[in-house]
Amino acid sequence: MESFLREFPQDSYNCSSHQGTGSISENFCYSSPLPEHRYLATPTSWTSDRHPLSKSPWGCLDPYTSEDQDREYVGFATLPNQVHRKSVKKGFEFTLMVVGESGLGKSTLVNSLFLTDLYKDRKVLNAEERLAQTVGITKNTVCIEEKGVKLKLNVVDTQGYGDAINNTDSYKCVSDYIDHQFEQYRRDEFGLNRKNIQDNRVHCCLYFISPFGHGLRPLDVEFMRALQDKVNIIPVVAKSDSLTYDEVKKKKIRILSEIDKYRLKIYQLPDCDSDEDEEFRRQDMELKRSVPFAVIGSNMVVDVNGRRIRARLYPWGVVEVENPYHSDFVHLRNMLVRTHMQDLKDMTHDTHYESYRAQ
Ligand code: GDP
Repeated sequence: MESFLREFPQDSYNCSSHQGTGSISENFCYSSPLPEHRYLATPTSWTSDRHPLSKSPWGCLDPYTSEDQDREYVGFATLPNQVHRKSVKKGFEFTLMVVGESGLGKSTLVNSLFLTDLYKDRKVLNAEERLAQTVGITKNTVCIEEKGVKLKLNVVDTQGYGDAINNTDSYKCVSDYIDHQFEQYRRDEFGLNRKNIQDNRVHCCLYFISPFGHGLRPLDVEFMRALQDKVNIIPVVAKSDSLTYDEVKKKKIRILSEIDKYRLKIYQLPDCDSDEDEEFRRQDMELKRSVPFAVIGSNMVVDVNGRRIRARLYPWGVVEVENPYHSDFVHLRNMLVRTHMQDLKDMTHDTHYESYRAQ
């Protein structure tokens, strides 16, 4: 497994809000993939019973296993393989936005999700500096490669969000940024080089809800209301290790009922297809039951009974980030990376971008 570094053109976005002007800075980081990075692009079952004389140009993905079969079939069963090869060659892009007041564990969670250190150069402001600060958008890009599949991951951070004394219109800067990316994409579609468009549209927004309040705060409601038709919002309860099992359950019920009460639209996991297997259906049910995901993050890898795991060490015990009994971290990661990344991109293109174009 290798990681690699590539340079991308600097983003020139400047964000203005009623409070002033924020700007984007970009950092490029090496990823440090751990064994967890081995799950993508598993070969299809065609490999197992492949005939040794197979003449497929696509090697191990050949669905025709003998010359007899070559004669019997026209050959379009290789179409999925052609698509697969082409997309693997092109690589994938995904843009994740994290929103929530500072200190809720956004950067720690992103590092835990993608096993990287995206915020090495981050400067944490003191209270006085934060008073003068406006919402600033920072974009970090990391290129991850696993099993030959390349992913260019952009993480958009919204520093200063919710930190001001008056947070009215705090979400405006975020909304402007998302619109700006849609506008850029629209222009590129009409441009000469439309075959190689860089897709910087925001595919998913992880919205961090404080574990200390009672359900949603007015700012949370305002944000979701303003952004719900522009981006896929996935609510997460931050730092859920500060809540007991019952408190997490109650908080989730309260948040969901408020989302319902205020008619807020969050990302809806699509229904399972009728031909999906039992295991997939079970996982899908579990994912749906976990929303809003109660998450825990940690930058520490510790040794617990001979296992090296990400965890938080307390005087009274160890909280394991990837233990499903301790948090919904694994469900969130599965959804974001393993099962619904493409659906989030499709929703962005087919629903949010289309409604932007229609305006
Ligand atoms: P950000 O400002 O939202 O990016 O927050 P950070 O990721 O910088 O985290 C702020 C502080 O909260 C740090 O001291 C972290 O170690 C701590 N922290 C991060 N995630 C968690 C968590 O899941 N639980 C607890 N209890 N603390 C956390």
